[in-house]
Amino acid sequence: MLFCPIGANLKVISTMSVGVDHLALDEIKKRGIRVGYTPDVLTDATAELAVSLLLTTSRRLPEAIEEVKNGGWTAWKPLWMCGYGLTKSTVGIIGLGRIGQAIARRLKPFGVQRFLYSGRQPKPQEAAEFQAEFVPTAQLAAEADFIIVTCSLTPATKGLCNKDFFRLMKKTAVLVNISRGDVVNQDDLYQALASGQIAAAGLDVTTPEPLPTSHPLLTLKNCVILPHIGSATHGTRNTMSLLAANNLLAGLRGEPMPSELKL
Ligand code: NDP
Repeated sequence: MLFCPIGANLKVISTMSVGVDHLALDEIKKRGIRVGYTPDVLTDATAELAVSLLLTTSRRLPEAIEEVKNGGWTAWKPLWMCGYGLTKSTVGIIGLGRIGQAIARRLKPFGVQRFLYSGRQPKPQEAAEFQAEFVPTAQLAAEADFIIVTCSLTPATKGLCNKDFFRLMKKTAVLVNISRGDVVNQDDLYQALASGQIAAAGLDVTTPEPLPTSHPLLTLKNCVILPHIGSATHGTRNTMSLLAANNLLAGLRGEPMPSELKL
């Protein structure tokens, strides 16, 4: 994510994202600058990517593909390339918002037994579809087989997944982050993955972006890293572009935006 300086004459901002953590919101509010953003239209694509990343990570697909190429695939062995499956599992979702719900909806048919979620407050209406239980973050960390981070990045969520969090997780658990890199403490994640404290991690978002190619996380077989492609389908990016342009035009004309951030 790029951080943008705010010029003195700035009146309207249009961001092609639902996340607004790259914007200086206090200053924007103080100056009465209007902000258009693109919620909803990217939910399905991002949820689809999150499920792909979860399966890719938990079933060790990058490692398996590499083994085919490098000759590591030899005689059939019972435990070779085993990963973890979703059937009868417990899935924990940090932030049952639009994307969190869309992920749960897609994971349910895989035979997930139990959904847990954490957030600022229970959301019984949204949770009912998955019989998801609202639990403290520590309980979610301790009981989930798969943890998916889908909350927004705020001062409260920055560094939420740190060494204390990883210490609570099962050794067999898999962490997936599609939210923002800063929700996860990457140094602590490296230690947890390298020491076998947790099984694996799949990240669509990192700090910084792009992640330097020399980053230690890239040396780990049990860490799958994607270049922030959650919403990257042709259709979704076209829709986001149109919405962002219409937000900007409406803002410049002093009209209501199709999707304006409430500050
Ligand atoms: P929503 O606003 O619908 O959901 C955000 C969720 O974050 C809410 O459920 C909210 O919980 C939760 N949250 C806020 N504060 C906390 C907290 N302190 N602890 C736990 N949960 C918290 O947004 P979306 O679902 O549309 O998007 C979520 C995020 O996904 C975006 O902010 C963005 O960072 C990221 N994203 C990433 C993409 C990618 O390409 N990888 C693409 C699109 C989005 P509550 O309901 O209790 O307030």
